[in-house]
Amino acid sequence: MARWICKKHLFRRTEYICSCCGCRSDRPYVECPNCGSPMGGSKYDPEWVDEIEEIDAIFDD
Ligand SMILES: [Zn+2]
Repeated sequence: MARWICKKHLFRRTEYICSCCGCRSDRPYVECPNCGSPMGGSKYDPEWVDEIEEIDAIFDD
């Protein structure tokens, strides 16, 4: 069963990524809006995204 992978960001709102198709959503819908997979309840897999590269990109202008 598909599930949302919860991606926390330092400077942006948390994203939820479909484990089935990789679609990004701003909230954990019951079904993936992209591939339609039903999500397995509230079983998230929180992980912090390394933002260092993005921060470098902002200041490297
Ligand atoms: Zn999906």
